[in-house]
Amino acid sequence: MTDSPQLIHTIEDLQKQVRKALEKAQEELATQATEENPAEQATIGFVATMGALHEGHTTLIRRAREQNDIVLVSVFVNPLQFGPNEDFERYPRSLEEDVTLAGEAGADMVFAPTVEEMYPGGNPLVTVSTGKLGSMFEGKTRPGHFDGALTVVNKLFNILIAAKGKHTLNAYFGQKDAQQVSLVRRMIHDFNHAVVLKPVAIVREDNGLALSSRNQYLSEEERESALVLSRTLAILREETLTGQIMATDIESAREKINSTEGIRLDYLEVVDPMTFEAPTKESQRALALVAAYVGETRLIDNMELH
Ligand code: AMP
Repeated sequence: MTDSPQLIHTIEDLQKQVRKALEKAQEELATQATEENPAEQATIGFVATMGALHEGHTTLIRRAREQNDIVLVSVFVNPLQFGPNEDFERYPRSLEEDVTLAGEAGADMVFAPTVEEMYPGGNPLVTVSTGKLGSMFEGKTRPGHFDGALTVVNKLFNILIAAKGKHTLNAYFGQKDAQQVSLVRRMIHDFNHAVVLKPVAIVREDNGLALSSRNQYLSEEERESALVLSRTLAILREETLTGQIMATDIESAREKINSTEGIRLDYLEVVDPMTFEAPTKESQRALALVAAYVGETRLIDNMELH
């Protein structure tokens, strides 16, 4: 494990370095191989981020480190996934610190392209369309968000697929963005991406607050108020342990959040995490989703109920 990952800015160099690193990793595996234990195929773990790394991101990176020979982290604040009145300009950027944190968590390479490198000549004409699943919940409040997010993930996947040869590409995504995980799963399926999706559970502060780069925007009081989100989800989960939750339980959860000082609820709903539709009798799992404005800051959270 190295503490200072290679910092890469261009797609061409990324592909070159990925090929080289995989080749080297394969050679190392070959030197350790015996007749009884032939060399396994070297794998690459990939974590896509927008930077401002925190313990949520570094948990994904550490997981990738445990499971792969090569670990790559991308840091790119993707303008396509921000609406015109959202926080693209003010989104926290801290590349130097991100490179250090990524290295400490086990990254071998950090890919930090410019907007021009990813979208030469301006926004792409052909983009990913995320359909119905991409226009519910987060996609409803943030029109175009998932088309933009999945477009950049599609590009990153294609760039890496072209460089990985026969090696497995494992992609780590956090359940913090549960709808994004579902969409990436669908995109891999629908586009035949040679990528293995590795979802990672939400990382929280001890008090329950889901870690987010946007937590930096919160004042002390807002941080305190924001705790109502995870607490309310936890109450819903408790209620499912003692029986089925009713529409009235969901309604009182909404009221609890809305009546908290400084908080305006966007949505709170229970869904089947595969479809994001209301759970049916066939649903294996139920997921409670919440989004709310804490002051000016929009936060999301979710919790598996069963
Ligand atoms: P972002 O930089 O917000 O685009 O996030 C990059 C990746 O880190 C996404 O897959 C997120 O779901 C994941 N992530 C962000 N926060 C958390 C968290 N608190 N727990 C788990 N994963 C997270």
